[in-house]
Amino acid sequence: MKVSKLLKNIVIASHNSGKVSEIKSLLKPMGYNIIPAKKLKINEPIENGLTFRENSLIKSRNAALKSRLPAIADDSGLCISSLDNEPGIYSARWAGKDKDFNIAMEKIEKKMAKYNCFNKPSRKAFFCCALSIYFPNNVSRVFEGKIYGHVQFPPKGKNGFGYDPIFVPKGYKKTFGEMNFHYKERISHRAIAFKKLSSYLHKIKN
Ligand code: IMP
Repeated sequence: MKVSKLLKNIVIASHNSGKVSEIKSLLKPMGYNIIPAKKLKINEPIENGLTFRENSLIKSRNAALKSRLPAIADDSGLCISSLDNEPGIYSARWAGKDKDFNIAMEKIEKKMAKYNCFNKPSRKAFFCCALSIYFPNNVSRVFEGKIYGHVQFPPKGKNGFGYDPIFVPKGYKKTFGEMNFHYKERISHRAIAFKKLSSYLHKIKN
């Protein structure tokens, strides 16, 4: 079956309410009916991939094959060059069971202190987002977005989430945590990946 025929209902393969509402607000104007995976009682699969792409596809594939509907998933994280791109795919896991990102940011600061990497080149970092769409007929696509910058300590700003208070994007003086959330969402790694997904959806719809 042509993939565009399947495109009326789309499942969001995430149990993270922030991500669900962000993806909803992007896709609703395009006329899709958005269904959160939680509503369909679809479990969260084990993310045992070795890249953002693999983990994103594990989530979208699981939701698409269980719901028999197209599914979208996001996998993202912060990569710090002097820490061999850690925490990377483990960004959420560094915050532990309680999802405490103050602990995760402290862990980064301690590791960087251990290796004495607080000079500017060592603080280079980027956020990466792999956004995937998986169709029940096993067709899939992955779209990546990256934003480059550096990390700084102490954390600054109360906006956003996760590692926002330590990330300063290139060309800016403020951390993501100090920026207006809607402004950040327009320039972020996720926004870049979303733009690519939207143009793909437009293309296959027409
Ligand atoms: P995921 O749900 O496995 O993709 O986890 C991604 C983790 O990376 C999140 O829990 C955040 O901590 C972090 N992360 C991803 N995108 C951002 C962002 O835009 N700002 C801050 N942290 C982010």
